[in-house]
Amino acid sequence: MPTILTPAPAGAPGLSDKFGRQATDLRISLIDKCNLRCTYCMPADGLAWLPKSKLLTLEEITRIVRIGVRDLGIRELRLTGGEPLVRVDLAQIIAAVRAEFPELPISLTTNGVGLAKKAAALAEAGLSRINVSLDTLHAETFAMLTRRDHIDSVFEGIDAALAVGLAPVKINAVLMRGINDEQAPELLAWALERGLELRFIEQMPLDADHTWRKDNMVTAAQLRAYLEPHFILNPDTRPRDGAPAERFLVSTHEDPQTILGAVGIIASVSEPFCSDCRRTRITAEGKVMSCLFSREETDLSALLRDGSGDIDIAERWRAAMWGKPRAHGMDHVGLGSKDFVQSDRSMSAIGG
Ligand code: SAM
Repeated sequence: MPTILTPAPAGAPGLSDKFGRQATDLRISLIDKCNLRCTYCMPADGLAWLPKSKLLTLEEITRIVRIGVRDLGIRELRLTGGEPLVRVDLAQIIAAVRAEFPELPISLTTNGVGLAKKAAALAEAGLSRINVSLDTLHAETFAMLTRRDHIDSVFEGIDAALAVGLAPVKINAVLMRGINDEQAPELLAWALERGLELRFIEQMPLDADHTWRKDNMVTAAQLRAYLEPHFILNPDTRPRDGAPAERFLVSTHEDPQTILGAVGIIASVSEPFCSDCRRTRITAEGKVMSCLFSREETDLSALLRDGSGDIDIAERWRAAMWGKPRAHGMDHVGLGSKDFVQSDRSMSAIGG
């Protein structure tokens, strides 16, 4: 059933919602396809991929970004998927946005497979920063988690991103109980040695197989308990400014004064930050998702394709965001609570 949208009030700035938040961080999924099958995201056999005709085109993506930045207060852009490197025109999309917005921070979230060959072109096109997802340093664990054998390609991709200066290179890691949770300290040591900023993300109920259980996920508190025998996690006292990661400056018990680097913990489940959420997401087929956990979506593609003007598109986007739920797709925080209903969309089909 189509969602009935309430228009955002004329006086509400940009992409505001009823709870006083304003989205300034735009995430666009470029494609739903992915070349990995991470167990916490995708089924082993993949999903029914969107036909190419449904994917937003380069022109549609740049138009959305234009409306967002010029008219609606968007201040940063992240390109994601699915796997954005699978999209053959990725560098052209980045270059087109960069040509219009020379100062806009543009980042990419990727699994890093095949990145080695593309990193230079992406940097050249105007990419500002990159996050590479890597949950383990071990080939067997990688194969178990992703159902693919591509860990060396990811390592090469990370090296290439560093070499072309896509700094800071961040690493996204999801811990799964009994599979890679005990590897957290070695993953952090490895990241610190290379000047990479590791961010642990709590596993969220966004897997296509719907196997997530709150009592089986690795919480931020459990992660800290794994890290603390090896590292001192000094809270970063700078204001978080809407960032999903709680940041810590890391030193060792042997040399507490020397800061080796930083680590972030994104505790979306156990220590949620919904009240300060600044995100708006557009799926690969042009639907606005106001909240990662929402089961409501608002189509922009029809307007993009029927000759509607930018004002109509902006108003529908504003209305979608005005209806953003308070937290976790509901009126309260509580992933795993009795009234939480998991979306049919996996993280890959939304755009993580
Ligand atoms: N394919 C790209 C990648 O792997 O980075 C971009 C899309 S992926 C959906 C974006 C991020 O979402 C990855 O870092 C991935 O680990 C994370 N992710 C996927 N499913 C998740 C889940 N159920 N809970 C937490 N993070 C998840």
